[in-house]
Amino acid sequence: MRSLRGATSTGAAGLLAAAIEGAGRLDMPLYLVGGPVRDLLLGRQPSDLDLVVEGDAPRLASYVAGKTDAKVVLHRRFGTASVRVGKERLDLATARREVYERPGALPKVTGGSIEEDLLRRDFTINAVALGLAGPRSGELLDPSLGVSDLDKGLVRTLHAKSFEDDATRVFRAVRYEQRLSLSLEGETLGRLAKALEMDMLATVSADRLRRELALVLSEERAVETTLRAGALGVLSRLYPPLKDASWMGRFPEGSGGAQPLTLVAGLAYPMSHGEAEGFVRRLNMPSSWGAAARDMARLTGKAAALEAPELPATALYRMLEGRSAASVEALRRLTPSRAAQERLAEYLERLRFVKPILRGEDLASLGVGRGPRVGEVLRLLLEERLEGRALTREEERNFVLNHLKSHGGEI
Ligand code: ATP
Repeated sequence: MRSLRGATSTGAAGLLAAAIEGAGRLDMPLYLVGGPVRDLLLGRQPSDLDLVVEGDAPRLASYVAGKTDAKVVLHRRFGTASVRVGKERLDLATARREVYERPGALPKVTGGSIEEDLLRRDFTINAVALGLAGPRSGELLDPSLGVSDLDKGLVRTLHAKSFEDDATRVFRAVRYEQRLSLSLEGETLGRLAKALEMDMLATVSADRLRRELALVLSEERAVETTLRAGALGVLSRLYPPLKDASWMGRFPEGSGGAQPLTLVAGLAYPMSHGEAEGFVRRLNMPSSWGAAARDMARLTGKAAALEAPELPATALYRMLEGRSAASVEALRRLTPSRAAQERLAEYLERLRFVKPILRGEDLASLGVGRGPRVGEVLRLLLEERLEGRALTREEERNFVLNHLKSHGGEI
């Protein structure tokens, strides 16, 4: 197991030391829980520091803030708090038990012991804790044998109804499996399939589903994680036109540096306009996601035109202007046509940044007047540049003056 000290930066170590000291003073047993313990056991760098106290977490957080120059955010109603210095952050929660009264509903939460807190978790590999202060300091708590599952390389739910209680766990299962090179344990796989068959994703709100998909698309191995979710039938349950999303395999390994938004566009690659619209609604997408998905569906209809043997830069620009860059980038990665790929790259890397030197006010001083005419002349200048004519400022002025002359002063 990697040592906690070796895996924390100086800032985080200062916060942790204050939390441990405060927990001792306030007589609240304190534990490092879940992800960071799992990551230390795997010899990985923990991405966050989650702490649980058998006691009042907001009170301990206020103590830590008082002893350091950390900022504190308290959520008294939930018994949680976070303390932050610069980029370093500790999340503290009061140990709790959860009861799911019906699938998909948020659970009823009451105070509990650390064991109860661990047993409400998603997978055995996350139901682990390390005592930091109190009678069990230094002890590794592992009530569901998560350490043995980590050794065996298995993601296992804690009980048969886990995915039914909270169907977002199907996404989490796939993320852990792909991120940590584990496998879904046999019975867990069966439970996941059953939950999908029972359409348990329908019990989860659009916003929560979108957040889960965003987490999948933000993984380092986003493409592999997406393909695995597709192969397991998670994506077709999420939205049937996503099918198994096998086309996403055309993105390079990981995602080849593609941003999550580009992958959102990629998911809409084979969709019709209507299907893309349904995708936007299904996940209650914010405008950037919505534009990426809708524009993707619009652009796939232009695939043939993008391959045409002759395509002037101005025509290419017109075809793509105003479309979300994520959708153009996704099409570049997904289209099998070499010619289309090259044109999309030309637009992304060069054409979309082309601008005339002169601005609206320069045109006004040359006598173009105001209103829509300014836009029209700027457009002519832009098209000159798109066609590769590298005009100087002076040449742009002459172009405008000639144009004015040939239109008898009127444009
Ligand atoms: P990551 O590295 O992705 O942040 P993590 O394990 O820290 O991994 P979080 O999403 O930060 O994941 O959640 C913190 C802990 O809370 C998890 O380790 C898990 O024990 C628990 N948890 C989170 N979401 C759920 C859930 N839907 N059901 C049950 N337990 C959950």
